[in-house]
Amino acid sequence: MSKIAVIGGGLAGVVAAYRAVEAGLEVSLLEATHHFGGHTRTAKLDAISLELGEEFFDDTPGTLLNLCGELGLLPQPLPNLRRVVRRGGQDWVLPAGLNLASGFGLHQMAQMPVGRGVRWRLGTERFAAPASVKDELLGAFFRRRLGPEVWEVLEPYLSATLGGPAEEVTAPTAFARLVGLERQGGLLAGSRKLATEGRWHLAGGMGSLIEALSTRLLPKARLLPHHPVWAITRDSKGWQVHVPDGQLEAEAVIMALPAPQAARVFRPSAPQITTLLNHFPHQHSAKVYLLYRQNELALGPSEFFFARGEGYSSSALKLTHPNPELALARVQFAGETARSADSELTRLAEQDLAKCLQTKARPLAAWVFRQPSSRPHFTQGQARRVADLERELLHAPGLFLTGSYLAGPGLANLVEHSHQTTRRALDFLALASA
Ligand SMILES: Cc1cc2nc3c(=O)[nH]c(=O)nc-3n(C[C@H](O)[C@H](O)[C@H](O)COP(=O)(O)OP(=O)(O)OC[C@H]3O[C@@H](n4cnc5c(N)ncnc54)[C@H](O)[C@@H]3O)c2cc1C
Repeated sequence: MSKIAVIGGGLAGVVAAYRAVEAGLEVSLLEATHHFGGHTRTAKLDAISLELGEEFFDDTPGTLLNLCGELGLLPQPLPNLRRVVRRGGQDWVLPAGLNLASGFGLHQMAQMPVGRGVRWRLGTERFAAPASVKDELLGAFFRRRLGPEVWEVLEPYLSATLGGPAEEVTAPTAFARLVGLERQGGLLAGSRKLATEGRWHLAGGMGSLIEALSTRLLPKARLLPHHPVWAITRDSKGWQVHVPDGQLEAEAVIMALPAPQAARVFRPSAPQITTLLNHFPHQHSAKVYLLYRQNELALGPSEFFFARGEGYSSSALKLTHPNPELALARVQFAGETARSADSELTRLAEQDLAKCLQTKARPLAAWVFRQPSSRPHFTQGQARRVADLERELLHAPGLFLTGSYLAGPGLANLVEHSHQTTRRALDFLALASA
């Protein structure tokens, strides 16, 4: 019998398995597909690398940065990129390195051509009224602190970053650190104290994190690709994890699947957990990569965020130069549009790029990655959803859940949550054997 079965070989599951193995436990890691990493994956082609999921991470909390150090990976500060919000037919260049997870660069919003009234408002931000509701929406938070004009510029950027309409997202879940700053002298004062952007990427792509973790896991854990779990049950001896050709026994289970996929696994044996998991909203997302000859797109590295009503189907477009001959555009879609057929997504991506960059260039190649229900959408009621789920889990000793839908946005939060969940599982096993 395995001490711990970890279900799901995405970043959350691989990190949980790694920590459990480090603690000396017998671990089985079950993954439905042939590869580990889930959305954290870098596709490497001849001249270019394509990130399927997140492209960088924040250093708050520092757990992921520390993990990279432990694995011998050397994260690099995110290269500077000109980031532009296209709204009201106008281009608004965001402050260099703006990072709303930490607040870096926010005080430089006053340098934008926002008008004297807005500058005065930013100058007096520290006197803004405190929140009157606990679960305040992002729009209300930013309007209250920085004014409606600043929110209008930030909204398309935030919607693209969060993978869904930012006005539906709550400030404490998405930007806990920023909300904390309002009780410590204001956002802009906090922002001024930050020396670095605090965002990192890996030269070998985010997939190199999974490779490094898998290499450490390989000799010590049972890695089980092609093991789609369809149900888990419990009897007096422990947990049974059901896969198509049999079952695996474990004393504790860490369920590291995104909520929509975990909901399916609980349906046969614990429909009440399925119901609670289905209450966590998720958004569809898709990325289209378009490859061009460098001389056909003569613009430096940049990223554009499109406000609704500007005539774009995508939410953001990023242009980079993998080598002196090539230009690579990443066009990001969210919501229902992200579910369109590959050919339609490619057409829309080309159309948006042509409109945004005023070009007739034709791509040399295109790749589409569609990720249905992949982005947790942190709407109002998140704290209640988490509390309801935790209450239900009290009836399932030895079962632990982790994932972005519980951790909040960003890979750093996910890794921190996965660590904490593994620690709780280890405590449970220690108590059970005492
Ligand atoms: C383009 C993109 C950008 C994103 N950006 C953000 C962001 O900024 N912030 C954020 O919070 N999130 C973001 N996400 C969501 C992102 O998926 C997560 O942050 C993170 O990758 C989740 O890791 P995970 O291990 O929890 O899940 P996943 O990466 O989805 O991994 C789950 C794994 O479980 C496997 N699996 C599924 N069902 C079963 C089963 N029944 N049995 C066994 N294995 C199974 C899957 O094959 C997969 O390998 C983004 C996603 C995408 C696609």
